[in-house]
Amino acid sequence: ISEGEILGYLYSKGIKPDGVQTLDKDMVKMVCNEYEVEVIDADPVKVEEMAKKKEILDEDDLDKLQDRPPVLTIMGHVDHGKTTLLDAIRKSKVAASEAGGITQGIGAYKVLVPIDGKSQPCVFLDTPGHEAFGAMRARGARVTDIVIIVVAADDGIRPQTNEAIVHAKAAGVPIVIAINKIDKDGANPERVMQELSSIGLMPEDWGGDIPMVQISALKGQNIDDLLETVMLVAELQELKANPDRNAKGTVIEAGLHKSKGPVATFIVQNGTLKRGDVVVCGEAFGKMRALFDDSGNRVDEAGPSIPVQVIGLNNVPIAGDEFEVVASLDVARQKAVACAELLRNERMSAKAGDGKVTLSSLASAVSAGKLSGLDLHQLNIILKVDLQGSIEAARQALQVLPQDNVTLKFLLEATGDVSSSDVDLAVASKAIILGFNVKAPGSVKSYAENKGVEIRLYRVIYELTDDVRNAMEGLLEPVE
Ligand code: GDP
Repeated sequence: ISEGEILGYLYSKGIKPDGVQTLDKDMVKMVCNEYEVEVIDADPVKVEEMAKKKEILDEDDLDKLQDRPPVLTIMGHVDHGKTTLLDAIRKSKVAASEAGGITQGIGAYKVLVPIDGKSQPCVFLDTPGHEAFGAMRARGARVTDIVIIVVAADDGIRPQTNEAIVHAKAAGVPIVIAINKIDKDGANPERVMQELSSIGLMPEDWGGDIPMVQISALKGQNIDDLLETVMLVAELQELKANPDRNAKGTVIEAGLHKSKGPVATFIVQNGTLKRGDVVVCGEAFGKMRALFDDSGNRVDEAGPSIPVQVIGLNNVPIAGDEFEVVASLDVARQKAVACAELLRNERMSAKAGDGKVTLSSLASAVSAGKLSGLDLHQLNIILKVDLQGSIEAARQALQVLPQDNVTLKFLLEATGDVSSSDVDLAVASKAIILGFNVKAPGSVKSYAENKGVEIRLYRVIYELTDDVRNAMEGLLEPVE
């Protein structure tokens, strides 16, 4: 398709690119949609995510797709106002009938946002924070369509803000920034915008592509603006599913209830879940005896994006497990057994180190000339250091290493000890964790071991760079 034609199309949409402008992702999608061209995102992490997303929809669904509500997660640094924002949204938007007493949450809730005189639903996951998001990703689950990152206007970007951004970017999920606490003395939203643009998140108001809304979660100020902005971003994503088929989706919460037995909250991602359906999720299965919506009311069914709490499973599944409706209890039982078997094998191979990304496996792949087979031509690194100043020092020392065989990609650079959410990010993105002058608590170490993630800790910078260089050149001696 000629350049002129594409430019003509962009002009017709009111977009007037100058000669050398790069189109952002949404624009590229829009153009490709117009010409019915498939878009492939070349970032390997994102390709992987897209593949996962595709699995939710089958070919049969394609001519029966309907719009579905967006599913949203709120992330951000501790004390920046995630919980207050979730409460504010819930209070202002959840049905008034609940005013008497907020019912026990089920892990997600639906909110109606008035847009052009119509009420449009969206769904919020109730567990804020990147730990939950990371844990789900580490299990291969992709539920969230848009991430809202809360940044306090009197505090600015902090370590967990950065982590949240990395998680959202690695998952290929669009970001909306809520600059919170604008009611406070000392609030400086402009400074926050400046900080964000300096790390590549350019505010829409300044010509960039990241929507940022200034709010006060405490005072309930501009919450509507925020929700409307989120809905606009959702619209661009063209979120669709086929409600007219057996349900498929993800477990977002699960536990054992005193009288009800195993309970789980599902987000339906495709199809419609009905009472009486037989479901298998991970190693658990059963006939859905009852479904409850986010207000605790019994319902007969739940369509795409809608969270429901279910009872009827024989076991408690794990958040992040996929669920699907199958034809009979026999089929469900067989699938559950097969899944248990698969998990056992996976655990064993994680312990045995099969397929895990380590400096030694990189070294042997390089020396055997088998890089592409192992998908190791790019080494994804999570760098944890003691002081802000060390980040730059360590990164630069690594970046100057010759990257002929293997390129280094820094997924996250942050201060602080290695945490379990670092491990989750490493699992989801096939990365190794390098620590400089930091520790990894015992619990984190054993978690990493279980997940097959390598953590290497250093006190001296040249030892760190030597190991990485040797690995990249295929010369690293195996440890232990
Ligand atoms: P979280 O750790 O991110 O969930 O943060 P919280 O929602 O618990 O909020 C941390 C503190 O900030 C609490 O004392 C809140 O009352 C306060 N807070 C949250 N939002 C606002 C706001 O918009 N304005 C002001 N002044 N305080 C806020």
